[in-house]
Amino acid sequence: MNPGVKLRLVLFIAAIALLVALIAWTAHTAWRRIGQLHEKVATVQWASFQIADYVQQKILSLNNSVLRFAAYRDPLDWSNFVTTSRELGQWLQGEQPLLSEKKEKTLLFRINIAYSNYVAAADAVNTRIFSTRQSITRLDELTDFELQSRRVLELSLELARAHQDSLASFQKQTSESLDWLRDLLFGALALLLAAGACLAFVVYRDLIAPLQVQLVESRQLAERQEKLASLGLLAAGVAHEIRNPLTAIKAWLYMHQKRLKTGTPEYADAHLINGEINRLERIVRDFLQFARPSDPQLTEVPADQPLREVQMLLAPELEKAGITLAVDGATTARVRMDPDQIKQVLINLVRNAAESIERNGRITLRARLDEKRLADKPTEVVILEVSDTGKGIPPEVEKRLFDPFFTTKDSGTGLGLPIAARIVEKHGGALQYQTQINRGTTFGIILPRVQGN
Ligand code: ADP
Ligand code: MG
Repeated sequence: MNPGVKLRLVLFIAAIALLVALIAWTAHTAWRRIGQLHEKVATVQWASFQIADYVQQKILSLNNSVLRFAAYRDPLDWSNFVTTSRELGQWLQGEQPLLSEKKEKTLLFRINIAYSNYVAAADAVNTRIFSTRQSITRLDELTDFELQSRRVLELSLELARAHQDSLASFQKQTSESLDWLRDLLFGALALLLAAGACLAFVVYRDLIAPLQVQLVESRQLAERQEKLASLGLLAAGVAHEIRNPLTAIKAWLYMHQKRLKTGTPEYADAHLINGEINRLERIVRDFLQFARPSDPQLTEVPADQPLREVQMLLAPELEKAGITLAVDGATTARVRMDPDQIKQVLINLVRNAAESIERNGRITLRARLDEKRLADKPTEVVILEVSDTGKGIPPEVEKRLFDPFFTTKDSGTGLGLPIAARIVEKHGGALQYQTQINRGTTFGIILPRVQGN
C-alpha cells in the first residue's frame, strides 16, 4: 500500500473513532439526562402532589373528630384528634426536604404554620368545652377553627396547583431535552454515515479498484501466457512439418536451376520460387522465435555498445538507399542484457524505419537515461532509441501495431514488432513509441539501468 493511501486511511479511521466517541458521549449524556428526568418525576413532582392530597384527606378527618367532639364530648374523638394531628405534624416536617421547587417549599412552610394555627384553634375548642363542660351548640363558636381549617385546605390546594404548574414546565423541559437529544443523535448519525460513505469510497478507489485492475491484468497475462505456451507447441510442430518438405524442394530447385540458362523465363521462374521459399523459411523462423523465444543470457554491457554494432552492420546497406544511420550522443550507463537479442530488436526497428523512409532520410540511434514505471514502481532506466524521418504510423495501423502477422507490406511477416516486444519484456523492460504523420517515428527500448554507474 502506498504511503499516501495509508495516511488517508489512518486519518479516516481517526475521524470514525472520533465520531464513535461523539456518539458514545451523546448516548451517555442522553442516559444521564433521562436519569435526571426520572429522578425529578420520582421525587419532587410526585412528592408535592402526594402532600397536597394527603393533607386534604387528613384535615377532613381531623375536622370530623373535632366536630364530633364538640357535639358529643366523647374523649375518644379528642384523643383520635390528638394522635392524628401529631402524626400529620410530624409527617409535614418530614416532607420538607423532599421538595426542591422553591415555590412548593414556601407553600409547604406556610402549610406548616397554618397547620400549627389550626391545631391551636382545635385546642381552643377543647379548652372551651373543658371549661364550660358543655357541648358546643352554636356554630359561631367554631368560626376560628373552621377558618384555620379552611386556610390549611386552601394552602394544600395551592400546593396542588403549584405542582400542576411545575408539572407543565417539567413537561416542557422534558420535551425540549428530548428534542435536543434527538437532534444530537441524528447529527452524529448523519456524520457517521457520511464518514462511512467517504471511507468506503476511499477504500474502494485506493484499494479495491486497483486490486480489481491488477486481478484483470494478471488474469489477462495468465491467459496470454497460456495461449503463447500452446502456440509455442503448435509452432514447433508446424515448423518441423514445413521445414522438411521445404528443404527437399529447395534441393530439387537448386539442382534444376543449375541446368537452366540464365535469362530464360524458366530461370526467372526458378528464381522467383527460390525467393518465395526463402520468404517461407523466414516466416517459419520468425514464427518459431515469436512463439518460443529463448531466455535472454544476461550480461552487463555499456548501453551504446549494441547501437554501435548495429550501425556498423547496417549503415553500408542503407547508404545505398540514401539513408544515413548514425549514433547520436553517448552515455556511460551500463545495462544488463542479452546483446544478441537486443541487437536483433534494434535490427528489426532499423529495418522498419528504413522501410518507412524508403529513400533519402536519416535514422538516429541514441541511448539516454530516464525514470519510468516498470513492474508498477518507478525505476531508473536506459532507453535505446531508433528515430526515423519516415512517414509516421497512421492511427488505423497503430491500433494493430503489435498484433502478430499484422503487416502493411507485401513482403512483411508482421512478426517484427511482436518479437521485439516479447524480447524486451523478457528483459524486464518495455517497448514504447511516439509517431507523427509525415515527420517520423521514434521507437524506444526501455531497460532497467544497472545501479551504481
Ligand atoms: P512487418 O515489418 O513485417 O510489416 P512489423 O511487426 O515489424 O511487421 O511492423 C508492423 C507494421 O507496423 C508495419 O507493417 C508498418 O506498417 C508499421 N511500422 C512499424 N515500424 C514503423 C515505422 N518506423 N514507421 C512507420 N510504420 C511502421
Ligand atoms: Mg518489421
